[in-house]
Amino acid sequence: MATAWQRRAITVWGVVQGVGFRPFIHGLATRLRLAGFVRNQAGAVYIEVEGETASIQAFLDELQSNPPVLAHFEDIKSQIIPVEGAVDFRIEKSSADAPEHVFIAPDVATCDECLEELFDSTNRRFGYPFINCTNCGPRLTIIQGIPYDRERTTMAAFGMCPACRAEYVDPNDRRFHAQPIACIECGPQLKLLDARGQRHNCHDPLAAFADAILSGRIGALKGLGGFHLVCDARCETTVAELRRRKHRDEKPFAIMVRDVATAQVLCELGPEELQLLTSSARPIVLLRRRKDCCSIASAVAPENPRLGVMLPYTPIHHLLMRAVGDSPLVMTSGNTAQEPMVYQDDEAIVRLGDIADLLLTHNRPIHVACDDSVLQVVNHEAVPLRRARGFAPAPLPLPIACPRPILALGGQLKSVFALGRDKHAFLSQHLGDLDHLAAVRAFEQNIRLYEELFETKSALLAHDLHPDYASTAYALRRAARESLELIGVQHHHAHVASCLAEHGLNESVIGVVFDGAGYGADGAIWGGEFLLGDYVQICRMSHLRYVRQPGGDAAAREPWRMAIAHLVDAGCDPRVLADVTQQQLQVVEKMIERGFNAPHTSSAGRLFDAVAAILGLSHRTSYEGQAAMQLQWLAETSRDEGAYAFELSDTVDTRPLIRDVCRDRQQGVEAATIARRFHHTLAAMIAAVCQEIRRQTNLSTVMLSGGVFMNALLASQARERLERGGFRVYQHRQVPPNDGGLSLGQLAIAAKQVALRSP
Ligand code: ZN
Ligand code: ZN
Ligand code: FE
Repeated sequence: MATAWQRRAITVWGVVQGVGFRPFIHGLATRLRLAGFVRNQAGAVYIEVEGETASIQAFLDELQSNPPVLAHFEDIKSQIIPVEGAVDFRIEKSSADAPEHVFIAPDVATCDECLEELFDSTNRRFGYPFINCTNCGPRLTIIQGIPYDRERTTMAAFGMCPACRAEYVDPNDRRFHAQPIACIECGPQLKLLDARGQRHNCHDPLAAFADAILSGRIGALKGLGGFHLVCDARCETTVAELRRRKHRDEKPFAIMVRDVATAQVLCELGPEELQLLTSSARPIVLLRRRKDCCSIASAVAPENPRLGVMLPYTPIHHLLMRAVGDSPLVMTSGNTAQEPMVYQDDEAIVRLGDIADLLLTHNRPIHVACDDSVLQVVNHEAVPLRRARGFAPAPLPLPIACPRPILALGGQLKSVFALGRDKHAFLSQHLGDLDHLAAVRAFEQNIRLYEELFETKSALLAHDLHPDYASTAYALRRAARESLELIGVQHHHAHVASCLAEHGLNESVIGVVFDGAGYGADGAIWGGEFLLGDYVQICRMSHLRYVRQPGGDAAAREPWRMAIAHLVDAGCDPRVLADVTQQQLQVVEKMIERGFNAPHTSSAGRLFDAVAAILGLSHRTSYEGQAAMQLQWLAETSRDEGAYAFELSDTVDTRPLIRDVCRDRQQGVEAATIARRFHHTLAAMIAAVCQEIRRQTNLSTVMLSGGVFMNALLASQARERLERGGFRVYQHRQVPPNDGGLSLGQLAIAAKQVALRSP
């Protein structure tokens, strides 16, 4: 049989540049004795291979089944072209045409091969804290412009030494075109500073830093996307001191542990958690603590049955974790209260000097600040709670192409904006709450940067309807200045659309959106919504009964206010509340009566607050959602099967539920039992309303969205009941269920609107 010989042209689209793709292709083709070439072109990689047909088939198989770890394919096309009789395989220079469709890779945790070299005393990068390669290291955080080349990164100031240069230009080297390539001779160096910014002249800054941490000091550490505050997680007094200096009362701190084995000693790890923890994004994963584990200071995550745990993801972390032995370290964003994370050296001294005793920093500048990502496994699936390092700015596919570039601005809390271009959404890293001027400035700065990096001039701005959101104000300002078109999107419509979009759906569905607050079409505060619709329109089918929210935003920090509102509404005596003074009661009752500074709300988040306060869980909270979380933790300790009453009419009547909770409370039923029954009731309520909507409309696909669904217990119970009832249920997997996912929904809605207009 004659050997078949052919030549094929292959184009691969997706995240294929700056991820070691061309050397990978070169290696593969050479191994299979194929001739031809590979080159980058316009957002794709173009390959021609020539050789035995079987080898070309093997090439295609291997390309698709075993690509470089960081590559992400959107599409592959291949066709047979005339044979040219080529004899070798080359990497060609990038084609001259402008790269219209750039993708930028997220930062990647140190890979296994680099790690091996880091701890190999014979390697020339032994112990070098900035080791990286084509498959790992900084990306988004060092990029200043495109195309992604060393000159346009914060590594530009470091000239390569001959040894690094040789690796950089060798297609067979695993550091071929690794832009942040460096070594001890030519690359960035660590330095140790005291709290006033004076440099310590020590031989080994990292060892000195580790010693200080082990002796109970609080350190600031410059990592990949910003500064962390670091201390020994076992030491109660140090962690308490960190809380005091950082002005952070109870919000949990994340910890970093040396390896999986250490994580397993502290927490329960299922296969999904293990996979997340060790993935190349290396996020913080919320893990259930082991009951028998008491080596972590209680101040790390007070009363919290879960711990946020991550593994080392830069060489600095690996070296540090080794230097502190088995000790887990608190690793929390370097900032005070709600301000953005510090990422520049000069501001580190100013803003962290009062918190940290010493700083371990280095001279590789961070251009883009990027916080750690946080995920949680619910029903064996990973749900992002914060999407940042390791994920942003990887594209998410859009079910509807943007006819023109669209910028969606998100909400106010957990700010994330989204840039839409063709069929891709580029979501920013989590930018925090836009309550502070500094956060708003960072928000605007990142928008400029993303528009530059993705070479996208936004033609249309999508925003929330809330007039007081900083993101709305930005949209109005910018639209006026640049004469751009505006599309306002109702908050909960955006939540539903975000869930639709991330699952690639484009159909009418039932949307159950439970969150803290969103501006409603009638001016009330919505947050317990049963919606029906698609990207184009949405209809409010039902919602939790309106009650007053006494004090407006203050009610979110003082759950007892909502407790009074719900008790009064249900005809119960608010004097059952402990910790509420006669005067507080009178003031709030007046507010409710007169409707003064007490808007109507259907918020499910505030209903959680109310029940938590009735159970005496939290009088005052120090972070958003705290009372609801405490209620969830309590419910998780009970095995009770009971539930309370509710009534469905035009709205969902919560009064019978509140009366039942009150009665149980007065009869001395355990708080955990009541909390459990409350969760069961909400799940049953969700299923019942969805059934009613299905009866009227025949639709049986349900989106669960909104921050309340970060509650793993409620999310899994609601899902289970709905699925038992024959519903198809979708939850968030790519973007957070909270307002961090809003911009994706706004983007999809705006894209659809514009697409409908232009035939
Ligand atoms: Zn590497
Ligand atoms: Zn070097
Ligand atoms: Fe929301």
